[in-house]
Amino acid sequence: MGYEESWKQSVDEPEVFWAEQARLIDWKEPPRQILDVSRPPFRRWFVGGTTNLCHNALDRHLAERADQLAIVAVSTETDITREITYRELHREVNAFAATLVALGVGKGDRVVIYMPNIAEAVFAMLACVRIGAIHSVVFGGFAAHNLAMRIDDAEPAVLVCADAGMRGGKVIPYKPLVDAALAEANAPPAHVLVVDRGLDESMHLVEGRDALYAPLREKHLHADVPVTWLESNEPSYLLYTSGTTGKPKGVQRDTGGYAVALALSMTTIFDLAPGQAMLCTSDVGWAVGHSYNVYGPLIGGCTAILYEGLPTRPDPGIWWRLCETYKVRTMFSSPTGIRILKKQDEEWLRKYDLSALRWIFLAGEPLDQPTYDWLSRGTGKTVIDNYWQTETGWPALSLMPGLDLKPVRPGSPGFPTFGYRMRVIDDVTGEDKPAGEKGVLVIEPPLPPGCLSTIWRDDERYVRSYFGHFKGSLYSSLDWAVRDADGYTFILGRTDDVINVAGHRLGTREIEESVATLGEVAEVAVVGVADELKGQVPAVFATLKQEAGGDATAVAQAMERRVVELLGGVARPGCIYVVSALPKTRSGKLLRRSLQAVLEGRDPGDLSTLDDPGALEGIRRAIAAGPLCGHRREA
Ligand code: AMP
Repeated sequence: MGYEESWKQSVDEPEVFWAEQARLIDWKEPPRQILDVSRPPFRRWFVGGTTNLCHNALDRHLAERADQLAIVAVSTETDITREITYRELHREVNAFAATLVALGVGKGDRVVIYMPNIAEAVFAMLACVRIGAIHSVVFGGFAAHNLAMRIDDAEPAVLVCADAGMRGGKVIPYKPLVDAALAEANAPPAHVLVVDRGLDESMHLVEGRDALYAPLREKHLHADVPVTWLESNEPSYLLYTSGTTGKPKGVQRDTGGYAVALALSMTTIFDLAPGQAMLCTSDVGWAVGHSYNVYGPLIGGCTAILYEGLPTRPDPGIWWRLCETYKVRTMFSSPTGIRILKKQDEEWLRKYDLSALRWIFLAGEPLDQPTYDWLSRGTGKTVIDNYWQTETGWPALSLMPGLDLKPVRPGSPGFPTFGYRMRVIDDVTGEDKPAGEKGVLVIEPPLPPGCLSTIWRDDERYVRSYFGHFKGSLYSSLDWAVRDADGYTFILGRTDDVINVAGHRLGTREIEESVATLGEVAEVAVVGVADELKGQVPAVFATLKQEAGGDATAVAQAMERRVVELLGGVARPGCIYVVSALPKTRSGKLLRRSLQAVLEGRDPGDLSTLDDPGALEGIRRAIAAGPLCGHRREA
């Protein structure tokens, strides 16, 4: 079957299609019912089937590929490469699982993992799902406050962390951030398990709460921990992502549907057979990292290459060298990653033997034409844009070289993948938009396997955030899109207050809330502004209280420090302006879009609702004078 036929079956006869795909994984008990939509907009896949992600990623491969590499964890920060076979990975995961069990972790308990991109992060994730515990990986670039908010929502029994990460040769201690987060959290875990990499000699352990992993690993190295079979719809993990409010959403993933969707994506989208290698340059802290650094390649019996380090160190050929060494067939990265390489000598693209490499997938943010051209011309490889969200867990729009490759149309991630019936509709009337016209991208229910099942402990927020926008329980992607006459979809940016910095999703409200914690700040608005390297960066506009005094630059610098302190370096503002008024409607609503338009030199649109027409003039003057601080000022 070609793409059209398979896709059509996946949406017209979902039960037939997905019953067939369910065979891609092992089940302890087969599903009794393929799809249950009795409580819309919720849907349950493979009801009654019992399975386990760790079994599908590891145990079932031992008979055939125990000595094949399962993961290769490369760190150009510590100069250590660890090649780990399926047999060894199985051993490590059992030891980790036994350690968690000894700490009292059981089925349904949450475990927060705050780690750099290292092998132990993978061991910890697989160990959790092996015993039916629910992991919640928090990206290592997030700061203490962010970590504390996630801890309070997930209420973990245990937190797993490393002593430190490294970036560009600099040690970044993690443990002090964990200590600060636990001091702030209302629901701190009873235990902290620390993987000591020997990077931070000053690391301090809290007696009775903190334990080093190495001696526990030693103790449990020969333990065999049986897998805990879960009903297909029981949660495997939580992954927090930004929304329109300051409180992150705990995207909850199921077990069976996720495993089936990933298994299918490995062959049809990523064109990988068991035994072949995939390099995914993401971090395990992001959705892409969960699905294609860990679960996808392992479920597919492939070798996953995990990378800790910069794309340019020790030199800009590092990713291509990994492709040569491990005969990588499919590479997965982000447009920002490639834009960083594009600033370097193009010769690096030709220095290594890339004959095994077939496909380069890029996701997470819009892929601009110059970056696409540079990469496809320079490598001679097919570059495939794909679109997804933390919520979907796997690509929702993509070309499928493993099934039947349609011609690439730069700027478009292509067509819906299996089970995604998508429409582009008018944001006011909900009517379908004709080809060539912009509208909101929506998914008709039911969401396919692999997509989020709810927001952790907040069904109501799940329904309101995604299904409350249009009639017919349509899932709103909260992205603008347009389709061309041939059905290629183009993504045009978010409809909400979420911005995309280097492929990472940040809520402008979270940044505003951190700036507002400074006593000198009266009001603040944060918008995303186009950035050549990172796609977008946060721009801060603030008004100060009268008593703040005259030194606006000092306050702006304090704002920058506060954002980094509370949210982490990922959220560092690109530019900060202190202004006398913010543009608001008469009813007091901030006009973020007009701020963004003025900053990007575009028409701010209809200003008839503006309360104080002079406010935008003040904004223009501040922009013309240049930002008071932020990394753009330094650039
Ligand atoms: P995240 O949940 O962090 O993966 O962010 C998801 C958001 O990133 C989407 O809603 C889009 O706004 C954006 N995005 C992801 N992939 C693409 C793509 N290929 N092209 C354009 N935007 C994308």
